[in-house]
Amino acid sequence: MSTFLELGLKEPINKALTDLGYEKPTVIQEKAIPQIISSTDDLKAFAQTGTGKTAAFSLPILELLDESNSNVQAIILSPTRELAVQIGKNIEDFCKYLKNVKVTTVYGGANMDTQIRSLKRGSQIVVGTPGRTVDLINRRALKLGNVQWLVLDEADEMLNMGFKEELDKVLEATPETKQTLLFSATFPREVEAIARNYMTKPVEVTSGEKNQGSDNVSHEYYAVTERTRYPALKRIADLNPNIYAIIFCRTRRETQEVADNLIKDGYSADALHGDLSQGQRDSVMGKFRKKTIQILVATDVAARGLDVTELTHVLNHKLPDQIENYTHRSGRTGRAGNKGISIVLVNGKEKGKLRSIERIIKKKFVETKVPTGKEIVENQLMHLIDKVKATEVNSSEIEEFLPNIYTKLEDLDREELIQKFVSLEFNSMLAYYENSKDLNDLSSRDNSRARSTNENMTRFFINIGRKDSLNPGKLIGLINEQNIGDKIEIGAIDILDTFSFFEIDKNFEDKTLEAFAENQPDFDGRSVNVEITKKERSGGGRRGGKKPFGKKDGGFGRRRSAEGSSRRSKDSNRSSERRSSGGGDRKSGGFGRKRRERS
Ligand code: AMP
Repeated sequence: MSTFLELGLKEPINKALTDLGYEKPTVIQEKAIPQIISSTDDLKAFAQTGTGKTAAFSLPILELLDESNSNVQAIILSPTRELAVQIGKNIEDFCKYLKNVKVTTVYGGANMDTQIRSLKRGSQIVVGTPGRTVDLINRRALKLGNVQWLVLDEADEMLNMGFKEELDKVLEATPETKQTLLFSATFPREVEAIARNYMTKPVEVTSGEKNQGSDNVSHEYYAVTERTRYPALKRIADLNPNIYAIIFCRTRRETQEVADNLIKDGYSADALHGDLSQGQRDSVMGKFRKKTIQILVATDVAARGLDVTELTHVLNHKLPDQIENYTHRSGRTGRAGNKGISIVLVNGKEKGKLRSIERIIKKKFVETKVPTGKEIVENQLMHLIDKVKATEVNSSEIEEFLPNIYTKLEDLDREELIQKFVSLEFNSMLAYYENSKDLNDLSSRDNSRARSTNENMTRFFINIGRKDSLNPGKLIGLINEQNIGDKIEIGAIDILDTFSFFEIDKNFEDKTLEAFAENQPDFDGRSVNVEITKKERSGGGRRGGKKPFGKKDGGFGRRRSAEGSSRRSKDSNRSSERRSSGGGDRKSGGFGRKRRERS
């Protein structure tokens, strides 16, 4: 393994890389940097995002460009604004000690005059999205007559996004003598055509095998039906309390729907797609980078510019239309030496596509069963125990409280204490997954017991059941005690062991929630919690709206609890409405407040 100096880079560049914490070159850097420095041949590089490709093309350009000449010497095209901004920023970091090098990044949706002014001041390197670059060429604000390097980054994505015409225009605006550097994760026919038509005998370099997925990523598939697709997704998230994942969807609508459902069900999630304004997208990406959001639901295009290296999972809610894009998606995990898992949910029809993808990634998908409720509960329990074991005890801070606590607990032996502590955290989760169905049984029909049978009725979940000596008569009595309304109609009632369901005339939906929230009734010593189940899709034992889990793992701990007062459940409904209606900072109201309530 060489050092950056041995690859032919000068000391000021090496120093900047040391500042950035780059210790040694990545595979693609080791191959591309000396090649570009030593030869003017065109270059075709097979490299996915995350392989260090930005440095692979930028560093040799910085090594060779003429700092004393302010003409545009390198033009770098990238498919999205986010990626362009990221590349521009990376290059600025790389030329920290090359004081005379100027970089301008140009992209649509931003003030063109500012970009023109920056170009007029003279930039040796311009990074741009295809559309805005062509606009600036047409306005003669961007002159590419002296360009020595043209970089096409993520060429496959640019073509996917329909930028063929713009690429042709930029290629025509640059001199024949330039060196073209084409970087792509996949090489479908269209990219090969660009290479054939615009490049001269390009040298090929790869960051691994062509199109092959990273060695650090394992690929799993779960067989689902349309009925079990979403519940399976939730169970996968539940099984992995530390999940930090992108869920990929095919369309903006699918993306928003999945995100809305996850938010409603209490997950730390948000949507990223092209229907959001740039401000909203920036805000969502910022929160995901900071891990304020654990799960990002995104379209392929919108996720392109996101540079995160620690994803635990990539989830394919639906496979991409173009199977080559699977490599892009799965390549988002397993980066920077981390292990990652790429999961695909497929129905009977979609399963056939897996074979074609396996041929591209040269790896086999492992069929994995959707976890059962028991497995999830066990996993969460072990996670909690690990957390308890790892918790540091701040003796001096708690010392003064301990004598009283010891006195209060002196009747309990070790086993009883452990049982109570585990039950405190897990009763609600056990209830949630009690009677949960095996989602791997794809032939089974919906559990009609948990579904509203009447269009005019709203189905409610209530956290008390047979074990609390509840029966239909007592439940009707409890409902009536809340003074919801004179002519309130109560429909079907299902009493289960630790929780129950009841139906109420749809017109009294809000009043029912409000009444239980305000009265905060007790039943047999238990505080009563009521939630609407009507919008819930099929799945776990309880169709209730919110996830039942209490404070979750230390890393994130953002999930809401359905335990506690019914007032909280009302707030949850409101906050998810607010989130669904859009807005730049859609998340902070709901979860932010929820966290403060808990703390
Ligand atoms: P890229 O493939 O260019 O998007 O790079 C992916 C990530 O790896 C970015 O966060 C880079 O800052 C980082 N990176 C690139 N090259 C190196 C290197 N040689 N050592 C450490 N990190 C790197």
